[in-house]
Amino acid sequence: MSKINILALSTEGLRSFLEQMGEKPYRAEQILAWLYHKGAQSWEEMTDLPKALRKILSESADTGLLHPSRKQTSTDKTEKYLVALADGQAVETVILPYDIGTSACISTQVGCKMGCVFCASGMPGFIRNLSAAEIMAQVLLVKNRLLQCGRELKSFVLMGSGEPLDNYEAIVEFLGAVQDRERLGMSLRHVTLSTSGLAPKILSLAGLGRPLNLAVSLNAPNNALRDRLMPVNRAYPLEQLLPACDEYAKKTGRRVTYEYILLQNLNDQAEHAMQLAALLMNRLAHVNLIPFNAVPELGLKPSPRNVVNEFAGILKKKMINVTVRRRLGADIDAACGQLRNNLLG
Ligand code: SAH
Ligand code: SF4
Repeated sequence: MSKINILALSTEGLRSFLEQMGEKPYRAEQILAWLYHKGAQSWEEMTDLPKALRKILSESADTGLLHPSRKQTSTDKTEKYLVALADGQAVETVILPYDIGTSACISTQVGCKMGCVFCASGMPGFIRNLSAAEIMAQVLLVKNRLLQCGRELKSFVLMGSGEPLDNYEAIVEFLGAVQDRERLGMSLRHVTLSTSGLAPKILSLAGLGRPLNLAVSLNAPNNALRDRLMPVNRAYPLEQLLPACDEYAKKTGRRVTYEYILLQNLNDQAEHAMQLAALLMNRLAHVNLIPFNAVPELGLKPSPRNVVNEFAGILKKKMINVTVRRRLGADIDAACGQLRNNLLG
């Protein structure tokens, strides 16, 4: 008989599981505190549970925690883990040491269907969705690593491999576990979901009215160029995507971040910056310019620093909020999907 995965259970679900075994339902709170807050890695470590219960649990339940099979550490202290999944697949999880607190980058699928031309995650194609429990297990892996050295996870981004809105149900279930006080108990104000722009799903997310931050990978200021870089644009072009983002901003009161990777001689010219400014004028928006992490197999180049600065300067002049993302993990396989591809490919 296969074991039940505790990370896949709601708090209520865990209470009834315990009751069915003739145990006290309040044991659920103790177990969840160990798993989500006290860094326990096994049933044995949950020392305030009776020994007999720990034995029963070890026979009937799996903690759902996941472990890294590889780790790379960058000189700027970015840590990248290849996390092993139960079926032999693997995804990447990254710890990002920002000045304002430690963040993490979490994967939502193995591979990706979207086929963006600049992205390493999509290269192997789509393999499968992650479950809500597998997404949470990555957050806990990071949280526990940080706990071991007295650090705290302040925020995280769903920006690893995969398109989160192509795995919508698992994401909604996962967000519920993030907000649940008995489980992760973290405000969605500290969580950002990054999407390539599945407009109908952005509207569904807006309908939930939760304070989750939304980031949209825009990468091009017109349909012709965006069609080439991100095939998803052919299904949901800018005239559909941007109103969905406006609706998201309106319903949640959160400013939408537009991510824009600068690719040499492709989307980094002054005319592109002007078009981008025109698109985002009068919108509750923020632009995050991302230095491209070259993926050798893809044959694209990052824009030189002066071009990045000129691009940002044009947006600023047009009163668009803009930041240039710090380049973390540049000396390791930092682009999404690169570590996995290099090790498994
Ligand atoms: N699928 C979602 C989230 C994962 S991709 C999305 O597309 O938003 C996360 C971010 O990494 C996106 O903004 C994407 O544009 C960016 N990205 C992908 N490949 C990259 C690369 N080689 N260098 C820098 N950023 C990259
Ligand atoms: Fe998928 Fe995002 Fe990569 Fe596009 S950028 S292929 S949507 S992971």
